[in-house]
Formats: sequence, structure tokens, C-alpha cells
Amino acid sequence: MKINISQAKREIGRKESFSFVGSARDVGLLDEQGWLDAIISVNGEVTNTGRFLEIAGVICAKQVRFVCNRCLEEYSASLEVPFSEEFREMTLETNEGDNDFSCYQGDEIDITELVRESLLLAEPLKTLCREDCKGLCLHCGTNLNLTSCSCLESIVDPRLAVLRQFVKKTEP
Ligand SMILES: [Zn+2]
Ligand SMILES: [Zn+2]
Repeated sequence: MKINISQAKREIGRKESFSFVGSARDVGLLDEQGWLDAIISVNGEVTNTGRFLEIAGVICAKQVRFVCNRCLEEYSASLEVPFSEEFREMTLETNEGDNDFSCYQGDEIDITELVRESLLLAEPLKTLCREDCKGLCLHCGTNLNLTSCSCLESIVDPRLAVLRQFVKKTEP
């Protein structure tokens, strides 16, 4: 994913848009689980601010597979990740690594690594197949989204037992 900056770098204030569509493989996500079928599109703009080139935009990843934290089933979801990065022309003074900006040389900026890192950072820590996922039963492992089990009924807290009797008596 290389952006041609030959025009943008010449003129302060100049903006140029770019867009890419590719697979996860195109941005170097090879072995990471869940990315095999993902479709990645990147839309953004290069802006010459005078001091540096700002590359900003949004990455949209579709069909990313996650494993639900609660029920352990696989599900697919989309991610939308905004990104922005400063690029300065490589000179004798710029020393990439010591600074919080990136460097470029020539007429192209390759954003493959930027896209890859942004996507990995955006992977949610907590994944849920759906907001109200019921998860697995702690006792028998049944997926409570699909079926129910009788574990909760057989494990009765003595305090609850009293309450149950009470409920039964008052039932019509
Ligand atoms: Zn779930
Ligand atoms: Zn159970």
C-alpha cells in the first residue's frame, strides 16, 4: 500500500486522497488468527502541513473472525479504525526511532506497516458474539445461547430453598 506523494510534498497546504482495498495478507497479517478471510479497505488523505506530511484516514476491516469470551463460539465482525501519522523527509538530522514521527525518502510512502499495526492495536480485548450472550454454564459447559441446562435448579442455596418453599405456598 504505497502512496505517491510527489505532488503533495511540493506544495504546502496540498491535500490528496488515496484508497486501497486488499486482503489481510496484503498488509502482512499472515498468521494472526481470524484474519484469513478479512477484506481491508483504507481511505485517507495526505496533507502537506508545511512541517510534515500528515497521512490520516480510516481502515475498514470486514469479516474478521473473533472468538467470543463468554461462549467460546466463533463469530465475524467488522472493525473501523481511524489512523493518522506524521511523516518527515529523511535528512541527516532526522533520526527515526528517537522521535514520534516516521520518515520518508523519495516520492512514495508505504503505509502497509502503519495499517497492520493500527489493525492489531484495534483488536478488541473483550469479544462478545452479541451484547446479551448468555455464555457457557459453569457446571456442565452447555452453551446457554443454544439450549438450557438444569444445573442452576439442582444447585440450591439453602437460603434460597426457604424462599422457594415460600413462593410455592403462596402460588395459587
Ligand atoms: Zn458468545
Ligand atoms: Zn449446566
